Amino acid sequence: SIPLGYFGGLGGASRRGVLVKGSNYLDALTRLDTVVWDKTGTLTRGVFKVVEVTPFNGFSRDRVLELAAHAEAFSSHPIAASIAEAYGRAVERSRVAGYEEVAGHGVRARVDGQLVVAGNDRLLHREDIPHETCEAEGTVVYVAVDGVLAGRIVIADEIKPEAAAAVRALRELGVRRQVMLTGDDRSVAEKVAAALGLDEVRANLLPEDKVEAVERLDAERRREGRIGALAFVGDGINDAPVLTRADIGVAMGGLGSDAAIEAADVVIMDDSPARLATAVSVARATRRIVK
Ligand code: ADP
Ligand code: MG
Repeated sequence: SIPLGYFGGLGGASRRGVLVKGSNYLDALTRLDTVVWDKTGTLTRGVFKVVEVTPFNGFSRDRVLELAAHAEAFSSHPIAASIAEAYGRAVERSRVAGYEEVAGHGVRARVDGQLVVAGNDRLLHREDIPHETCEAEGTVVYVAVDGVLAGRIVIADEIKPEAAAAVRALRELGVRRQVMLTGDDRSVAEKVAAALGLDEVRANLLPEDKVEAVERLDAERRREGRIGALAFVGDGINDAPVLTRADIGVAMGGLGSDAAIEAADVVIMDDSPARLATAVSVARATRRIVK
């Protein structure tokens, strides 16, 4: 049976903006020793802004934005919204056909009959489109039309103001390893990880690579004979499998997708990464009362 005090703990957590879906997760939180963070929307705001558009091969800046905005018209990724905003005019969905989203890569669609590919370096390799890989201050989205590179769009996101304090607080609570996983470019990932003082970072991951990374971290932990718990914290776009795999799957309740909120064991209502440390403190205080 569940000790009565745990109900108080669940209530205490919820009053502090953290929904814990069962006393077993409260118990796991007291033993938290590894935190795996998703980057976009979790440690960063997930609100992207276009900061640069560079056209190539005779295309204009406006044309690059127009083609990209239309190719992205059916995407719910925050990158798509930022491109639509930079385009600044109405996107006509009737001009778009054969839309396809390639998870962790980007999109491809026919716009006015032309095949438009918009996405990362990996996507252009997959589509065999000649291009030069470039590093920038943000995430690079390449735009190609009928196999020819038309331009690149650089998109920037911001680190959440409370993220560094969240990482520090968890370390002070005894979390020994904090790792960031992302599908984003290495240059962007390393900048964020350094700014936050994370222990490790893995970039250019596909959604399935994130599950494998969590499995590997878990296996390493077991080999070392530790019994602590591992949490994965994500905003939920493509994160449901990895949320399920972690001992404690934590989703952002505001930005998070319905699928992620459902798959999660713990939901942070206001999307603040600092709430995880709050949840650990509440869980430990509850344990002291229960035992
Ligand atoms: P994260 O791990 O940061 O949440 P995602 O798995 O959502 O990232 O995406 C990984 C990468 O795939 C992005 O950084 C971007 O390069 C590319 N990408 C994903 N969706 C899109 C899209 N709709 N348009 C352009 N690029 C995209
Ligand atoms: Mg994501």
